[in-house]
Amino acid sequence: MLISKGGRRPGAAPNPRGRGSTRRLHPTHLLIVTLAACSAPGTTAQDEARATPDRASQRGDSAKAAHQTGLTPAAPHQKPTTTTTTSTARGPAPRKSIPGLGKLRYAFPVWGCHTSYGHSHHDYPATDIFAHRACLFVAVVSGRVDEVTTTDTWSGSSNAGATRGGLSVSLIGKDGVRYYGSHLAAIAPGIASGTVVQAGQALGRVGDSGDARGRGTHVHFGISWPTQPGQWWVRRGELYPWPYLDSWRSGQSSSPAAAIQALEAQRGGEPRCILDC
Ligand SMILES: [Zn+2]
Repeated sequence: MLISKGGRRPGAAPNPRGRGSTRRLHPTHLLIVTLAACSAPGTTAQDEARATPDRASQRGDSAKAAHQTGLTPAAPHQKPTTTTTTSTARGPAPRKSIPGLGKLRYAFPVWGCHTSYGHSHHDYPATDIFAHRACLFVAVVSGRVDEVTTTDTWSGSSNAGATRGGLSVSLIGKDGVRYYGSHLAAIAPGIASGTVVQAGQALGRVGDSGDARGRGTHVHFGISWPTQPGQWWVRRGELYPWPYLDSWRSGQSSSPAAAIQALEAQRGGEPRCILDC
């Protein structure tokens, strides 16, 4: 469905990995940090979408990032200085660091065609990117192809959840995030599970396979964390993509990695299907 854009731009989020931030901290400070990190149990997918980190905070080298972490950047060979640590932590701390995350470049997932997309999606977090048939669906970031569906087995009578996407490709990026595009008309030559791809490389062509049949050619674009094969209810989308789509379309490279790590920790890695199953 096409809904007018009214959403938010990518916002700022705390740099979750303030380098050296816990070194030589007094135990009282550690307790404060721990309490602050646990203070947002009600964080929702929408909250995480608002908490999109920008490139400055990924690098962790700007005054903005310093403000977000509550840490004052230390000069070389100078002991880190703590200021207040109680008011700026938001959301669960990521579980792992991603080497080179700040250097990754992202591409808008449809290349060479006019596109439109709304800042909304029915039922669960995803974005439908409308474009003409056969426009290229491309890898948003370098990584490895995860699951590929090459045959459209959807039927309106059964409307089985596992088949609604029709032809689809999912990719696990170097950022540890899974990106999924479905309703494709074709899979690009050479694209199969395990194929290593670069950002911007063609994965398929836009279509209306699956339950999009006759309802307008588009890519259903989902962002999630990697799971075991076949968990389509996670793969279809867990985090609202449009703040990142807006960023990538404007040539920026906001990463959903931190938000996805937080969501995975919050939801559990392989939750049961509870909606549109
Ligand atoms: Zn959709």
